[in-house]
Amino acid sequence: MSWRTPTDRPHRDRTKLHRADSRRHHRSMLLQHLFADGPASRADLARSTGLTRVTVSDLVAELIDEGLVAELGAPAEIRVGKPPTLVGLVPDAKQIVAIDLSVDDQVAGAVLNLTGEVVARAARPLEGHGEAAFEVVRDFAAGLIERATRPLLGVGVASPGVVSPDGVVLDAPNLGWHDLALAADLQAALDQPAYVANDANTAVVGEYTFGGGDEAGLMLLRISTGVGAGLVLGGTLLHGRGSAAGELGHLRVDPGGEECACGGRGCLETFLAVPRLRRRIAAGTQSAVIADAGRRLGAALAPVVATLNLGEVVLSGPLDLVEPLARQAAKTVAEQVMPVSNEQFVVRASKLGDDGVLVGATGLVLAGELGVS
Ligand SMILES: [Zn+2]
Repeated sequence: MSWRTPTDRPHRDRTKLHRADSRRHHRSMLLQHLFADGPASRADLARSTGLTRVTVSDLVAELIDEGLVAELGAPAEIRVGKPPTLVGLVPDAKQIVAIDLSVDDQVAGAVLNLTGEVVARAARPLEGHGEAAFEVVRDFAAGLIERATRPLLGVGVASPGVVSPDGVVLDAPNLGWHDLALAADLQAALDQPAYVANDANTAVVGEYTFGGGDEAGLMLLRISTGVGAGLVLGGTLLHGRGSAAGELGHLRVDPGGEECACGGRGCLETFLAVPRLRRRIAAGTQSAVIADAGRRLGAALAPVVATLNLGEVVLSGPLDLVEPLARQAAKTVAEQVMPVSNEQFVVRASKLGDDGVLVGATGLVLAGELGVS
């Protein structure tokens, strides 16, 4: 697996690589192998990366010096000859601060290790707009940094709204942020590398990095107070022309339907947003409400599935809603696309549960700082 932001892809086709760039790239290759496939011997690493043994030994020594990698001894099953020493990533070598701003009126965060395991958590109300909201987030991040028990790798933030690939919040009306250089401002205030992405994009990075997401084509749809999606295709997070790839919550699926938060009418979001689903279920029967919403979701997904030949659509949200929605949407997609598009295609609930966004924010930092995904 090799997720990168398009602007920072080490495997990007360049005619000339600077020496420092190629060293960084080779380090990323080794770390990626150890991250995705577990411990390996130096010889295994040389074989799988195509690097020379000298280069591998040299880089492994550097990574051991930094504490990111450790020697683990020999595998138990090898008893003849000189056994190779395995090296592996040290999950607690560094910690990451992850922050989720996607829940209304709240900022939630955690300190996590390199494998996305939560070490400490915090949450507080998020009142205020604009500069005041930024100050709350900055102070909250500083508080979490103090709770880290290991050296920090960086800070990852999932923001609502539209966010550029370099961490500028272009538009987040709920927080009163417009063209806010959140990543750069946090980096300056906290003196730590900082990464910011839209919450749906963050969640899809989490699913891809830690949830076994499909490498060829993965779309994650977040179903909460709103509906948004993130897409990873061929290992790359899609941003689109205006950083708004995946914004399909406001597709009009019923011209005469309910009014939507965007000012439009009958948007997909008016059928899927959790508060609306709960309200309809309370007034009717769960199975009928879910069947209708799932069919509309499936009909909206089908052209995307057919166009991109996606492997998976992952639904993230309350399990009692997203599991039956996934089943109905899969059925509708199957009815509307060619068999070849539906072959091995699945719609499923996220395995990461409520922590998907925080874990994804961890993935942003891992990708940015270590080239690992
Ligand atoms: Zn709308």
